Amino acid sequence: MPQQPLAQVPLDATWDWQEHGACREADTALFFHPQNERGLSRVRRDRAAKSVCARCDVRLDCADYAIRAREPYGVWGGLTEEERERIYTRSTLSEYGREKGAGLRAAADSTPL
Ligand code: SF4
Repeated sequence: MPQQPLAQVPLDATWDWQEHGACREADTALFFHPQNERGLSRVRRDRAAKSVCARCDVRLDCADYAIRAREPYGVWGGLTEEERERIYTRSTLSEYGREKGAGLRAAADSTPL
């Protein structure tokens, strides 16, 4: 997935897992909503992106990275922007883990991965 400009990329971030992403063969537009996309078309696009993530071997690496980086846009690791927002709102910045694995721990109580 392309890196987003507002993301806070963790210092220890590695990108090897991206080489194995199921989305490498998919249309990037499936994972990032066009401006002003709403309603059923957004739900359908998100579902289609999530179905690609569901069969991806590196889904947990991707989700962990996206949560730690606070990726603002797109479906990453099978999580939509809204699903990641719910995870972010559960922790303050001071308690927000940035080390590898912290993203999955933050998600554990709120979103089944
Ligand atoms: S989990 Fe989804 S977004 Fe992440 S690498 Fe796999 S297919 Fe791509």
